[in-house]
Amino acid sequence: MLKAGIVGLPNVGKSTLFNALCENAKAEAANFPFCTIEPNVGRVAVPDERLQVLGKISGSAEIIPSQIEFVDIAGLVAGASKGEGLGNQFLSHIRQVDAVVHVVRCFEDENIVHVAGSVDPLRDIGVINLELALADLAQIERRVERVRKQAKSDKTAQVELKALEQLQAALDEGKPARLVPLSQEEELLVKGLGLLTRKKVIYAANVAETDLASGNAWVEQVRQFAKAEGAGVVVVSAQVEAELLDLPAEERQAYLDSLGVKEGGLKSLIRATYELLGLRTYFTSGPKETRAWTIPVGATAPQAAGVIHSDFERGFIRAETVSYQDLVTTGSLNAAKEKGLLRSEGKEYVVQEGDVMHFRFNV
Ligand code: GDP
Repeated sequence: MLKAGIVGLPNVGKSTLFNALCENAKAEAANFPFCTIEPNVGRVAVPDERLQVLGKISGSAEIIPSQIEFVDIAGLVAGASKGEGLGNQFLSHIRQVDAVVHVVRCFEDENIVHVAGSVDPLRDIGVINLELALADLAQIERRVERVRKQAKSDKTAQVELKALEQLQAALDEGKPARLVPLSQEEELLVKGLGLLTRKKVIYAANVAETDLASGNAWVEQVRQFAKAEGAGVVVVSAQVEAELLDLPAEERQAYLDSLGVKEGGLKSLIRATYELLGLRTYFTSGPKETRAWTIPVGATAPQAAGVIHSDFERGFIRAETVSYQDLVTTGSLNAAKEKGLLRSEGKEYVVQEGDVMHFRFNV
């Protein structure tokens, strides 16, 4: 399961956002085990409008979306890399996630104390990123010491050392490790370090309800910063999301309309996180269920089948495949077949975004 960690300074709205993610998931998928599995870990469905369309075509009894696990990683304060606050424990949680959602406070509210006294998203981002960078530097320095000795006689160690030195240089200049281009070989060699600043990041700019439609000057600052860093930005209002959940379902749309938006940003955040990870979705669809499956870009048909069950991969024969668009245009599998749009794909086939697949396999 994909894992995204929610980080940010205290009082920026992390827990509010996390709770909204979980409550929303519960409301949307009553018969599916999403949601809070530990106090700070929740599973949510990835919204995908194609699922409903496919479900209708196949007359599916159930719709099962892809999921992402969100982890609310509380406790990062200045000095964490030296063990302040929850310190190292906090950092080790981030090492385990695939992507980071960095919540930044872009709302003014005199009742909510800001840990640094004023609203200043770029300063806040700087505080967190400095801690992450210092933790990475410490990690790299320890590794360099070991690898340097091995590099005297070992070619692979020489490659790793060169990569480590590049990463170290970038971090020393205040750049995140993610901006350093590495070869595939180098990437594999440093992967084990779980570098925090090499993870993909989305900045979630948490704004007041009145700024949800228009954004504000702080959001613009975050956008510019993120662009230079190769990170994404989503505007969200944790408070609006929390309030939506308190409203009866039939009043929610009117509330969003009054704010001039279609949604509170939660869905965009989930979608953006999923997209950030560079993944593909393929579907299985029949009378029992229509379901989205997540695969890495480049996965072949047997590998995609293996996501459902390892037996499917081992015994893979072929995959009857039609693109989502062709299935929707023709209106049914049979019609797609008549038009020659249902293809029989073999072991080498690289699964495309939105493929609807039916696997043939030996048991
Ligand atoms: P965390 O420490 O980052 O997890 O922050 P919390 O989610 O606990 O939020 C801290 C306080 O800020 C709570 O009282 C929230 O209700 C409030 N809060 C969160 N998001 C917003 C927002 O968008 N606008 C306003 N005005 N308050 C918010």
